[in-house]
Amino acid sequence: MCPVVWRNWARTASADPELVARPESDEEVAALVRWAAARGTRVRAVGAGHSFTDCAVTDGVLLDLDAMDGVEHVGPPAPDGSREVRVGAGIRLHRLCRELAARGLALENMGDIDRQSIAGAISTGTHGTGARLGGFATQVRAVRLVTAAGEVVEADATRHPEVFELARLGLGTAGVLTAVTLRVVPAFTLEAHEAPRPLAEVLEAIEPTDGSGLVDAHDHVEFYWFPYTDVALTKINDRAGTGAGPLHPLRRLLDDEILSNGALTLTTELCASVRAFTPTINRVAARALGERRYTAPSYEVFTSPRRVVFREMEYAIPRDRVVPALREVDAWLRRTGENVPFPVEVRFAAADDVWLSTAHGRDTAYVAVHQARRLPYARYFRAVEAIMTEHAGRPHWGKLHRRRAEDLAALYPRFDDARRVRDAVDPDRVFGNAYTERVLGR
Ligand SMILES: Cc1cc2nc3c(=O)[nH]c(=O)nc-3n(C[C@H](O)[C@H](O)[C@H](O)COP(=O)(O)OP(=O)(O)OC[C@H]3O[C@@H](n4cnc5c(N)ncnc54)[C@H](O)[C@@H]3O)c2cc1C
Repeated sequence: MCPVVWRNWARTASADPELVARPESDEEVAALVRWAAARGTRVRAVGAGHSFTDCAVTDGVLLDLDAMDGVEHVGPPAPDGSREVRVGAGIRLHRLCRELAARGLALENMGDIDRQSIAGAISTGTHGTGARLGGFATQVRAVRLVTAAGEVVEADATRHPEVFELARLGLGTAGVLTAVTLRVVPAFTLEAHEAPRPLAEVLEAIEPTDGSGLVDAHDHVEFYWFPYTDVALTKINDRAGTGAGPLHPLRRLLDDEILSNGALTLTTELCASVRAFTPTINRVAARALGERRYTAPSYEVFTSPRRVVFREMEYAIPRDRVVPALREVDAWLRRTGENVPFPVEVRFAAADDVWLSTAHGRDTAYVAVHQARRLPYARYFRAVEAIMTEHAGRPHWGKLHRRRAEDLAALYPRFDDARRVRDAVDPDRVFGNAYTERVLGR
């Protein structure tokens, strides 16, 4: 038994694999997969271990692709300036952003941290915010993967198109990704405008879906609503700036490290000890960061450090359901008085055509609930899950939830196609684990 015990960031999943390997080439990955398959041992690839679910867990062979993290190829520019860039599947997003920036390029959209690997991010449907934009999987143009048969396959919209669909978002069930080709855009700066606003005003502004509302008027809109308060902290990022300058490094340190991370550690500890403090602390926290405008390279605006460990569940619901859904969450919290010192995060994405994307076929709002590590989360998350289920919610594949393949199938029009491809490429479930069985079926 290998002494290495793998444990993920949120401490929500751990594994004691039989073997942890760090292959450096496709051939090594293929040899490991063939060796495992011949012994009847299962295989999972792991990225940064930043999923809250046990999607990367195995008691078999765990493949860590950290060593496969180079930039393999940069394609010529398309008329719109975008390019296709092929990178090793293990590359972390922060390194990818730096490599792209050095070439005058950038990812079109990102989530709120940059610690993940590109393979892990696409495999769980990781997304950012932007009503005209999709998640990471929509930026993928091709993949190279090692199949359960130990073969190296290139897949894209024309070569093995169905395998490509499952590989670009399929929890690693199509095979081990060794390289990912992304569509990237010329480097750009974003002007960020962050401000606390009355929740009622924000809900009214996001409600219209006919193009006249806040969400369509800007490139990237998100907000954090603090339970038991009527305040939402809005974060609006646009390319066409009004000329705001960069953020002073000391202000960034104050906001990101001292107010966001340091104060959050303190307030969640306080709230965990004394429940009565929570509404007041949430009110203070909602206003503490204050208003700020600044301009910075896109990847610095999209992401920020997250040092406080929390639990998270996130649901994708049709965009026009987000206001009633939030009102129901608010009503439940006020009725039960559940101790929740963490904000609810709301983001947006355009409908896409990726088979297992949480935004498949519908303009989407994402509602994410968080809970401090020291506090119970089950009752809160179950209540929110019940509300989101009523609104045809699809759970984020990498965040906590309790849904099963039987009911997820009804939410994804191409679910059966994904299962059919999985049956064809991995009939013996070399790449299966308990999580894939629960959410995709045996
Ligand atoms: C603090 C924090 C902030 C987050 N912010 C966001 C956010 O803004 N938006 C969002 O949508 N999500 C967010 N997430 C969730 C996170 O982006 C996803 O869970 C993502 O999958 C984590 O990437 P990872 O590299 O850690 O993957 P892992 O958790 O290691 O793996 C995820 C899945 O990918 C598979 N996988 C990994 N590598 C490969 C490979 N080479 N080949 C095949 N399969 C592979 C694994 O087997 C597993 O099924 C956040 C998570 C945390 C902890």
